[in-house]
Amino acid sequence: MGFSTSLQGQASHEALLGRQDAEIKLLETMRRCLTNKVKSDREYASTISSLTAQGKKVERSEELVGSLIAQSWRDIMDSIDQTAKLIKQQADSMESTVVEHISNLHLERRKARKLYQEEQTWLNNQFQQLTDDVSRKKTEYQKNLEVYKLMRSRFEEHYIKSGRGGRKLDEVREKYQKACRKLHLTHNEYVLLLGAVTECENDLRTCYLPSLLQRQQAIHQEFIVTWKGILQEMVKYSDFTTEKFLEIHTRMQKAVDSIKPIEEYKDFIGKHRTRQASPIRFVFDENLVDDTSGKLLPNKLTVDNLTIDWLRSRLTELESSLKTTQQNRQASQESNSDSKMSILDYSREREELRLRCQEKKLQRQADVIRGALNELGCEELPSGCDLSMEVSFTEPPVINKRNTVPDNGLFTLRRNQRLMTLLRSPFKSLPSINDTKNGVIRARSEGPASKPVNAPSVVPLRGGSNTSNNQKGNGNAGLMEEEWFHGVLPREEVVRLLVNEGDYLVRETTRNDECQIVLSVCWDGHKHFIVQTTPEGHYRFEGPTFPSIQELIMHQWQSGLPVTSRSGAILKSPILRERWELNNDDVILLDKIGRGNFGDVYKAQLKTGKTEVAVKTCKVTLPDEQKKKFLQEGRILKQYDHPNIVKLIGICVQKQPIMIVMEIVPGGSLLTYLRKNAGTITQREQLRMCKDAAAGMRYLESKYCIHRDLAARNCLVGYESIVKISDFGMSREEEEYIVSDGMKQIPIKWTAPEALNFGKYTSLCDVWSYGVLMWEIFSKGGNPYSGMSNSQAREKIDAGYRMPSPEGTPDEIYRLMLRCWEYEPEKRPHFDQIYTVVDTLSQAL
Ligand code: ADP
Ligand code: MG
Repeated sequence: MGFSTSLQGQASHEALLGRQDAEIKLLETMRRCLTNKVKSDREYASTISSLTAQGKKVERSEELVGSLIAQSWRDIMDSIDQTAKLIKQQADSMESTVVEHISNLHLERRKARKLYQEEQTWLNNQFQQLTDDVSRKKTEYQKNLEVYKLMRSRFEEHYIKSGRGGRKLDEVREKYQKACRKLHLTHNEYVLLLGAVTECENDLRTCYLPSLLQRQQAIHQEFIVTWKGILQEMVKYSDFTTEKFLEIHTRMQKAVDSIKPIEEYKDFIGKHRTRQASPIRFVFDENLVDDTSGKLLPNKLTVDNLTIDWLRSRLTELESSLKTTQQNRQASQESNSDSKMSILDYSREREELRLRCQEKKLQRQADVIRGALNELGCEELPSGCDLSMEVSFTEPPVINKRNTVPDNGLFTLRRNQRLMTLLRSPFKSLPSINDTKNGVIRARSEGPASKPVNAPSVVPLRGGSNTSNNQKGNGNAGLMEEEWFHGVLPREEVVRLLVNEGDYLVRETTRNDECQIVLSVCWDGHKHFIVQTTPEGHYRFEGPTFPSIQELIMHQWQSGLPVTSRSGAILKSPILRERWELNNDDVILLDKIGRGNFGDVYKAQLKTGKTEVAVKTCKVTLPDEQKKKFLQEGRILKQYDHPNIVKLIGICVQKQPIMIVMEIVPGGSLLTYLRKNAGTITQREQLRMCKDAAAGMRYLESKYCIHRDLAARNCLVGYESIVKISDFGMSREEEEYIVSDGMKQIPIKWTAPEALNFGKYTSLCDVWSYGVLMWEIFSKGGNPYSGMSNSQAREKIDAGYRMPSPEGTPDEIYRLMLRCWEYEPEKRPHFDQIYTVVDTLSQAL
């Protein structure tokens, strides 16, 4: 059963046309709907994208550095942005395939309908024509039959009237014969026509019509195949549960899982750590009793005939108030014990504290008065006689002493005085705003910055005009070649390099995740200009545009025109990369040999000369502030050259990750070495190690370098167990260095008390650490203050405790340790003295 047999009638034909019209309409509806869907998906995606961009802006604030929640939020925003991008992609595909195909199908469908209709009309016309032919012939037949009948009756009439002759009869006969002939002829024609038409009609009906309908069915079915395919595509591009979406979703889930409430504030605490709150001292003002000729003494209760009655009644009063307060407190505790309290509700705690405080105040006063009265005993008081009892009022009672916070009030004062002297000292340059930016007060200005070689003869542009491949976003591709391009060298380093007016260099910086090229010029201070990119991908400052940054800088240098009219800065001498600034690509990282605070440490090879080196890398993801800190070590190390100090080979700041390249010290960390070789290590070797470390430290002290993190873990062991001081990550080039930006990750057990308590660092603090280092060497890698927490160790040291001598330590060495651990820094030996002692000892052995 198909179109060809079932749809031959006129009604079917009408229905088929109606069906096609409806399908065409459906296609139009589909096209309209999908176009709108594409549009709204795109709008949705773009709204989501801008929303995530806003979301990311919020978390970029300084205060949230290190926050896992913020990190997770950033990842979630990224993921949602990815989702938006996918949705947009799908909308694009929907438009370019589905909507397009539906439009084509719609066109074809209309064309096909038209052709069908034309064909059908033609066929109907054919049938009509056949019918018309037959009926025309029949009419003619009827007409001739009428004529024949008339002629015959006329002839018969004459024949009877006139007999068998006459002219009239002949005439009538002839007409009759003629009509008869015509009738016969028409009859024959009619017979022939009917045969032919039947044949023709049969052909049209049984061959042509079924074939037309069959073709229509095939066309219709093919349309449906295409249509189905289009709907299939539509379903595909509406699927938001594909692998890609699921992946994004998994990533978001991971971001949430990475939030660790316990670790959320770890960095924050490290960064913002301050000293424990110091007590407020309430001190008796001794001026008050100057004129009482010893009758009234500071901090002592006066018990005499003038006060005794008052004291007694006061005591009774106090005791009764005390009782009431105690009862109140108990009642309040009982009433609170069963009611649930929100963690945010401090009111109950506050009320309890208030009552406890009141109770203590009353108790304390009562105790003191009672003490004074007891001392007096039951004796009657001689009238007119003053008795002053030695009862302290402000000293805390002995029982509480253990629980009180160590008293730092006086020290705070002293520390402030020291700070003041420091600031006023004529030897030290006053800190500039920049110096104190990080809360660090620099006591000594930095040594004269080494003036980099100025090579005016060097044409700063090697690439010439052949650098137009520096397209947008890749503006530094050819720049790497330029000696005056310093990569991601931090601004501080840049400022140090630009000494004379007109000195300039180009560097790279990242702002809001976007890489920017910056021209830094020494001109009335230091000016930093961001290279602007035009929509065509050209570069400019204020003046003309150039296809490459090199050409732009060349123009700026050759023209002698100011970079911007406001700054007036003119480029005079390009500052070329220092020999320390290696190319990242010159270093081939091999094996990982350690892990530092900023990133992994690798054994590596320099392409030039194939030298084996150690490379400290800085994690790409660390904030700029941390990267600067990481490079600090390189800046410090590059000035030193001593066999017992690890040598710097260079820094790589052309691109990320930034790296510090050092001589490789094959034995690794001293701590690991000590622990590994604990069974075989000799006293001679131990003394040698102490001597090496002392030599290195003596050298550092002479250079006014404070290491601040001297410990066995930060020393390295080289050939023939030579010890080298390493890890200058916390070092400062200062005679005295005051920390006020929180004490992040301070190695408490190695740090001198004055550094812990007042943030004051000098080489004498390193001496303290050196004492602990000696202890580590002689305990063969033992843990100092084992069994004590950091704060316990700190408290015990403040109370005078010192570690005992490790087994087998020569007495002289232990005595030296104790001298290094003198509480007062001034009493500790300097490194040259230490070196002499250790040297003499090791020679004597
Ligand atoms: P961090 O500053 O950031 O603590 P360290 O300087 O302590 O990093 O280095 C971490 C570890 O890497 C060391 O304990 C040591 O094992 C290894 N290491 C560092 N520098 C060198 C070097 N120059 N030669 C050999 N190993 C090294
Ligand atoms: Mg270290």
